[in-house]
Amino acid sequence: MSPIKIPIEPFKIKSIETIRPTSREERAKILEEAGFNLFNIPAEKVFIDLLTDSGTSAMSDRQWAGLLSGDESYAGARSYFRFDKAVRNIFGFKHVIPTHQGRAAERILFSTKLEPGQQVPSNIHFDTTRANIEVRGAEAIDLVQDQAYDPDAKAPFKGNMDIGKLKAFIQKRDKEEIPLVMMTITNNSGGGQPVSLANIREASAVCREAGIPFFIDACRFAENAFFIKQREEAYSQKTVLEIAQEIFSYADGATMSAKKDALVNIGGFITLNDDSLAEKLRNNLIVTEGFPTYGGLAGRDLEAIAQGLDEVLEESYLEHRVGQVAYLWELMAEAGIPLYGPPGGHAVYILADRFLPHLPRDLFPGQALTVALYAESGVRAVEIGGVMFAQKDKETGEDIYPKLELVRLAIPRRVYTGAHLQHVAEGFKTIYQKKEMVQGVKIVYQAPQLRHFTARFELV
Ligand SMILES: *Cc1c(COP(=O)(O)O)cnc(C)c1O
Repeated sequence: MSPIKIPIEPFKIKSIETIRPTSREERAKILEEAGFNLFNIPAEKVFIDLLTDSGTSAMSDRQWAGLLSGDESYAGARSYFRFDKAVRNIFGFKHVIPTHQGRAAERILFSTKLEPGQQVPSNIHFDTTRANIEVRGAEAIDLVQDQAYDPDAKAPFKGNMDIGKLKAFIQKRDKEEIPLVMMTITNNSGGGQPVSLANIREASAVCREAGIPFFIDACRFAENAFFIKQREEAYSQKTVLEIAQEIFSYADGATMSAKKDALVNIGGFITLNDDSLAEKLRNNLIVTEGFPTYGGLAGRDLEAIAQGLDEVLEESYLEHRVGQVAYLWELMAEAGIPLYGPPGGHAVYILADRFLPHLPRDLFPGQALTVALYAESGVRAVEIGGVMFAQKDKETGEDIYPKLELVRLAIPRRVYTGAHLQHVAEGFKTIYQKKEMVQGVKIVYQAPQLRHFTARFELV
């Protein structure tokens, strides 16, 4: 087999942050103190942190320069106009409303537009999107194609909406029951898998025919556009910017967490065409986030987002970005480690139940694997399985486990090198060779909601 090629970094390093390895003994003690929950470990004690790709990007020299030139005027700051122009250039909608992060955009949109009892379909809603719909007493519906839940299905666009299901869903209801349809690109909660332009066009046509607004959860629009360029024949000669522009041309608006594909550490926005809705959103924004030309952000943040939106569409950047994810995936697949495939845009997902077949679901193989990984190599991953997503059975109170028991390795943008990724893969290989030794965990403390953040465990 030919050696797996390391994607070359299309940047050189101008400023560094030291990371320090810890000893095996130190890590054992840290895990004990953290109740075997990686969320409880101080970041300083983590050697390579793959907890999330959200807000963890490295900014460029030009973004840092933007921080100094940011205009901090309360109203009508120069940085706002630069931000507005950068967003408009890609998304093309009439109104651009800054917010402090993605879920603030969601809250403002849904608290303005949703009524109790209404339903919002998506391919798969991200958890904050779902939560912001549910707090309104409305329902978040996932209509992704079934293959999204099959880790072995080989398809180029496993994030696609099931158009048949969408049509059937809409036909069965009054238009008033469905205030909007969303599409998440890439599909974060479904392996970071992309959605094809053909699928976006079809979903949009179904919504337009029914007179229902179509919105895009655009957090990873650039990664999705790059996959379209690579995998969808008709788009191989287009630029990523042209592809992104075409994606949004089929929509009525978008919500965005700038902590992803705007390459910054904080920020977000809503952008849309509807004048009267935009006015209501701005009124809501003024009460809860800030004046419409800053929306809870500093002028310098807007400056960094504008620059980041420019850089994220550079193809050398995107080739490295999705290349890093594919590289880590290939290193691990070559070692026989069971993975969700194909590699998505921002993370590698390990099938923890197949990796640790001796552990039943109630000993949380995903959580157990994150503990073993940290103990072995100081790498922090996150469980996406029974701890995070189990539902309580209404009668017995027992856990009903989600279909997939995953551990996610999310790759921060422009932060780690090929050598770091090799270290991660080596850690997994070592554990895989002695996998029968990995102990399960049981929960000794849990909060009533979102228990994964604060739960404490014991080894079994
Ligand atoms: C991160 C994310 C959000 C929420 O954004 P925050 O900036 O974390 O509030 C919404 N949707 C998707 C798909 C995301 O990945």
